[in-house]
Amino acid sequence: MFDIQNIRKDFPILERTIYGKPLIYLDNGATTQKPRCVIEAMTEEYLNVNANVHRGVHYLSQQATELHEAARETVRQFINARTSSEIIFTRGTTESINLVASSFGQAFLRDGDEVILTQMEHHSNIVPWQLLQARTRIIIKVCPITDDGRLDIAALPALFSDRTRLVCCTYVSNVLGTVNPMADIIRLAHSREVPVLVDAAQAAPHLPIDVQQLDCDFLAFSGHKIYGPTGIGVLYGKERLLEQMPPYMGGGEMIARVSFEHTTYNALPYKFEAGTPDYVATTGLARALDYVSALGFPAIQAHEQALTSYTREQLLTIPGMRIFGPSDDAVISFLVGEIHHLDLGTLLDRLGIAVRTGHHCAEPLMQRLGIEGTVRASFALYNTTEEADALVAAIQRVRQMF
Ligand code: PLP
Repeated sequence: MFDIQNIRKDFPILERTIYGKPLIYLDNGATTQKPRCVIEAMTEEYLNVNANVHRGVHYLSQQATELHEAARETVRQFINARTSSEIIFTRGTTESINLVASSFGQAFLRDGDEVILTQMEHHSNIVPWQLLQARTRIIIKVCPITDDGRLDIAALPALFSDRTRLVCCTYVSNVLGTVNPMADIIRLAHSREVPVLVDAAQAAPHLPIDVQQLDCDFLAFSGHKIYGPTGIGVLYGKERLLEQMPPYMGGGEMIARVSFEHTTYNALPYKFEAGTPDYVATTGLARALDYVSALGFPAIQAHEQALTSYTREQLLTIPGMRIFGPSDDAVISFLVGEIHHLDLGTLLDRLGIAVRTGHHCAEPLMQRLGIEGTVRASFALYNTTEEADALVAAIQRVRQMF
């Protein structure tokens, strides 16, 4: 049983009041709150274990290293990677994608080669490719979306050519809540021998991911969006590709031998992990993934999907309500009449409700929708139907003020 009231007790911040009102936190797409077990695991490591990993012969260093490498194994199991050498710790989805753009770009992309993105990508899956474009004149092609906020899959095959080298696609849209048919996209790309990078920033917290079953070539997600700490994320990559890619950054940890004449690199995954890693955050991330696994995705999905469709139905009873996208999963973007998204978000905040407003780092998508921004309510496993009702009532109140 999914005991929501007990689950809420695991998240201390949910007891806060804002302007004297109970906090209703509906900005989980931006970042999630942390359960006490994550905070305590990290505090415990700072209090009792802290030492730099990998290089030490002393007890604490070895203990910290064990925790850090156990965290890598937890991530491996969470996404069912074949081996932990395919799990690279980064600062987050953004760094993971930049790593691939830079390193895969250097290894495999030449002037005139093509990369396929989609109209619903977050800036972090657009700009790294444009930065690469400044160095190598790659061509960026964009898969369009339909008016109901889904990928126009029928348009995808025609975007491939014999110069296509990579497809980069978000699994779940952070604006529209669309869950893209990732397995189909990957199958299509592979039938043309093109690898696929999956941006799983919004997918990892809400649906089970099995990289071997998906057969994706790269997959990125952020710890802070899945109840873990900030500043830590994951890049999964197929060993075969990672082996052929040059290091992203240089420094300690990523080397085998260094001399002024010649430097050799460490084995995977360390080749891509220059410098001291955030080994306390990896412990926190592992604890967060354990927390999610203990609740289980069947229960999490049942709860979040019921909550999302209930909220969507209730919102649609409000006159002037426009919802953008299908809200398949935990994300509802909307505008109400002529009320500016910023005004609506600010007034909701005064009522204790935290939502996000603006372009959500997806300006090309806003251009496609012909709007400047939306209000976005995004859910996590600890949100309730009472909170959804409070959101709807608060929007009604704001409407009356206008
Ligand atoms: N991709 C998507 C779909 C996102 O929603 C986000 C964050 O909102 C990112 C990438 C970037 O994540 P981060 O800022 O944690 O690197």
